[in-house]
Amino acid sequence: MTKFHTMGLSDNTLTAISKKGYDEPTPIQERVIPRLLSGENNVIGQAQTGTGKTAAFGIPLIEKLEEKEKYVQALVLTPTRELAVQVCEEIDSLKGRKKLNLLSVYGGVSIGNQIRALKRKIDIVVGTPGRIIDHLNRGTLDISKIKYLVIDEADEMLDMGFIEDVETIISQTNKEKQILMFSATMPARVVSLARKHMGKFEIISTVEENKKNLTVESAKQIYYVVSESDKTELLSRVIDMDDDFYGLVFTRTKVQSEEVANELIKRGYEAEALNGDVSQYQRERILSKFKNRHVKILIATDVAARGIDIDNLKYVINYSLPQNPENYVHRIGRTARAGNEGVAITFVTPSEKRKFFFIKNASNASIKEHKIPNTKEIINVKVEKIKEEIKSSISKDTEPIYEILAEKILEETDKDPVDIISSILKHFYSGALEKKNYKPISQIKNSGNRQDKRLFVALGRNNKMSPKKLAEYIEKETGIHKTNMKDIRVLDNFSFITVPYEKGEAILETFKRKASSRKPLVVLAKTTKDEKRKNNMNYVKN
Ligand code: AMP
Repeated sequence: MTKFHTMGLSDNTLTAISKKGYDEPTPIQERVIPRLLSGENNVIGQAQTGTGKTAAFGIPLIEKLEEKEKYVQALVLTPTRELAVQVCEEIDSLKGRKKLNLLSVYGGVSIGNQIRALKRKIDIVVGTPGRIIDHLNRGTLDISKIKYLVIDEADEMLDMGFIEDVETIISQTNKEKQILMFSATMPARVVSLARKHMGKFEIISTVEENKKNLTVESAKQIYYVVSESDKTELLSRVIDMDDDFYGLVFTRTKVQSEEVANELIKRGYEAEALNGDVSQYQRERILSKFKNRHVKILIATDVAARGIDIDNLKYVINYSLPQNPENYVHRIGRTARAGNEGVAITFVTPSEKRKFFFIKNASNASIKEHKIPNTKEIINVKVEKIKEEIKSSISKDTEPIYEILAEKILEETDKDPVDIISSILKHFYSGALEKKNYKPISQIKNSGNRQDKRLFVALGRNNKMSPKKLAEYIEKETGIHKTNMKDIRVLDNFSFITVPYEKGEAILETFKRKASSRKPLVVLAKTTKDEKRKNNMNYVKN
């Protein structure tokens, strides 16, 4: 009997949970679900994405809401539309046979369809604050009778400057509703919002419990957000970024392990596939080649990789996402052994992000998102490698035959030594250093650790702005803390400021909304030719 069975949930919900494949509640679910079912205080759950927080409030909502009510019974606010869609889908998938209707509403799409949908019986609305307010103003959404208001990712919501919107929304609800708030962090602003509107509330934090879960040894762990079709290209870039790559690449299926190995071989790498179709004899042969480092790239499925015991493996690459946290820990436990350095890299497609965050949380791993290496970076690494190779091969006692040859070339060509050496290098290495060896990788929008955003602000010295005043002004208008703002350059009539990607999105969105039909005061700065050139400097000339 699982812990879900002891929580007093209905058979319908238990069936839905088991159909989803959830065996045990996560720590936040274990503590929040019973609390909400017993109808006690308002609750703030301190939990990040990936901890199962959606089901922590979704399951009690499903249990508590009535099938036959003719009004909206619960409103869930999320900071982004992606989250609105995901939360809506997750709750919908947990409702089993219970007749509850859900709808997600968010900006950026036609409001007409949403208005039509809201005319039908909807029990749970999941939406972003701006669009919710739009519907409230038009009279197309009535939240005056809701039983539950859920504010999801409250810290993010306030960071994005939604505080006034959230308060406007709360003001249109009844006093009796229960408020549930979820937030990854507990800054003062979140707590003060709760104090103002939540009456008696309790903070349930599972941060410590999550820490006690599985642990991963000393491997450096990173992940890339990449689309499925760009994975092989990314894999070759990762391999090329190290001048001595040695690693195990995990794929989910046998077919995929073959495909990836073949694609790498086509691109000129020495790689082998290891899967259940490989005979015992072949398996031993491949493994011994890999152990002796005659082959440095092995593409394997989980089953085939069982029993591979190599201490100095530099990389473990999750080409396909592991099935669960245990599988993740097991896979990457193969690198950074015996005090060796090791790197574990996970490729995550945009639709797998939630599953990945779940794995990341449960394995208590610090996995950082990295930017996909661009061709310039890779070529620079290769250039360094060639330079070091050549420098280390220059010896004092060269053989006479080469000396004579070198002298003759110098004499007969009447060229500068730099020209001569670069021609020789081109002759021997040009293939390796050509940009066209790499295919473009499409940048995925909306991934965590993206580049900074450079913003243009139509205020300058003539408007009495200084860097400090400008940062304070933007903080006041958007609620985004001024420590996020760097490289502030104030000119006579306008200024530039650089902020982290997500904050930039939020600032742009806030000013866009403030400006309505006029040109916003803050827009994305255009990249100048000079900057483009600067970005391309180094070894590679454009
Ligand atoms: P969330 O934190 O709500 O974004 O959930 C992250 C991911 O964990 C989602 O893909 C959920 O489907 C999954 N999940 C939630 N609860 C459980 C559970 N008890 N067992 C396994 N997976 C879960």
